Amino acid sequence: MIDKVDVAIVGAGTAGLAALREVRQKTDDFVIINKAPYGTTCARVGCMPSKTLIAAANAFHQRTLLDTFGIRGAAHLTADIPAVLDRVRALRDHFVAGVLDATEGLGARNIEGQARLDGPNRLIVDGHTIEARQIILAPGSSPIVPKPWKELGDRIITTDTLFEQTDLPARIGVIGLGAIGVEMAQAMARLGIEVHGFDGAPQMAGISDEKIAQTLHKALAREFAIHLGVEVDLAAADDGVEIRWGDDRVVVDKVLVAVGRRQNVQDLGLETLDVALDDKGMPKVDPQTMRIGDTSVLLAGDANGIRPILHESSDDGHIAGINAVSDETVKLDRRTPMSVTFCAPEVASVGKRASELNLETCLVGAVDFSTQGRARVMQENHGMLRIYAERDGGRILGAEMAAPAAEHFAQLLALAISQSLSVHDLLAMPFYHPTLEEGLRSALRAIARELPPCSISDLARCGSLKVEALE
Ligand SMILES: Cc1cc2nc3c(=O)[nH]c(=O)nc-3n(C[C@H](O)[C@H](O)[C@H](O)COP(=O)(O)OP(=O)(O)OC[C@H]3O[C@@H](n4cnc5c(N)ncnc54)[C@H](O)[C@@H]3O)c2cc1C
Repeated sequence: MIDKVDVAIVGAGTAGLAALREVRQKTDDFVIINKAPYGTTCARVGCMPSKTLIAAANAFHQRTLLDTFGIRGAAHLTADIPAVLDRVRALRDHFVAGVLDATEGLGARNIEGQARLDGPNRLIVDGHTIEARQIILAPGSSPIVPKPWKELGDRIITTDTLFEQTDLPARIGVIGLGAIGVEMAQAMARLGIEVHGFDGAPQMAGISDEKIAQTLHKALAREFAIHLGVEVDLAAADDGVEIRWGDDRVVVDKVLVAVGRRQNVQDLGLETLDVALDDKGMPKVDPQTMRIGDTSVLLAGDANGIRPILHESSDDGHIAGINAVSDETVKLDRRTPMSVTFCAPEVASVGKRASELNLETCLVGAVDFSTQGRARVMQENHGMLRIYAERDGGRILGAEMAAPAAEHFAQLLALAISQSLSVHDLLAMPFYHPTLEEGLRSALRAIARELPPCSISDLARCGSLKVEALE
């Protein structure tokens, strides 16, 4: 095994592979060490299989709308769940195969094993020592399962095991209604499973705007049982798992635990770096360089806990890779924050969240999609979008939404926010008719009404006709 390199990368996930891409541009003197399985969380057990399951669930759910469109006979359709799960795994395998190409042909520079720091320039990999000038740690995160619940054996599933199931039972509890919990709860409910969802927080999917949270709650409660602000306990029952909260109980066959993910840093040897660690064992990481203090170690991806989503993990790896092979510190500005939860209506936040702003001092524009023309045409008229803008000048600061096609609104608003555009700048663009984007325009117009009017020759000034078909 190689025992001395310029750069060692720990973890062949999205962050580690992004770092590898940068490092290889400058040197061939590297190793990448990965604890099996290879293939990345995203492709194996994360973004891709979850969205594949959601796609099947949404396709089946369409049958509930067909009657409204005048299309009959949908009641005879059934979801063949083993076949649905087969397709999830087949596509998962396809995506994983694509990822494996990234480490193909690296020979001895690709080491399968578990790495542990032994000081700032040394790693121990399954008993073997590797010296490195720079070390990039990108070990990812793992689902949290509270210890007592582990005793329930295979009645407890996480997203690490969900896509391995060959069938799903009739009743499932979902504990934790963050982005992952909400996505999977709705998907399983749409496939015909009786789902009971629980969260200790009063809101789901990380929404901080109360009005958006209420809209989402109303929409999802039509599809599965939701219990918010509750602490649950689990106990074995003859025919499954009993979920207990307050004086209430329900028995389900299995429980999907989605209470969060823990950074994989427990056995990483961070304590050998001689830097301060917080009560969770985490060191301080500069998000613009990914470096831990002034050590030769960088911490990238989910493992640093800064923004545990895919494009941010990839950026982390990119930044860490550049800094590992650069003589000077390279500080990169981070992108406008954006997150999407792929439930229906989709949830998204972009820029500043409501909880990061004083909404009393901002201008807020909203659109209710229940009365939006195109959303009604498509029978997707649920949800709300709220945009926050500066009172002085109308610069867009952020938005939260639970709305049809929120992923596209979030992309558009991310562009506007990163370019420091104002409400009037956006209203100066064309809005094709009839589109969901006309709903966004309604929210922008609501803010524009609060701003000093722009020039009479400026089309941004063009107002609403207050006609549902045109909004
Ligand atoms: C169900 C689910 C759905 C998701 N959906 C989305 C989504 O829709 N959009 C989105 O943006 N994000 C989503 N995410 C999050 C996204 O998948 C992660 O942010 C991203 O995959 C993290 O990449 P990473 O490189 O940090 O970690 P990983 O991809 O987990 O890579 C870490 C690697 O390090 C290895 N490793 C760990 N410890 C060691 C060690 N000591 N030595 C050697 N190797 C080690 C691991 O085995 C692993 O291969 C989802 C996640 C989940 C679980």
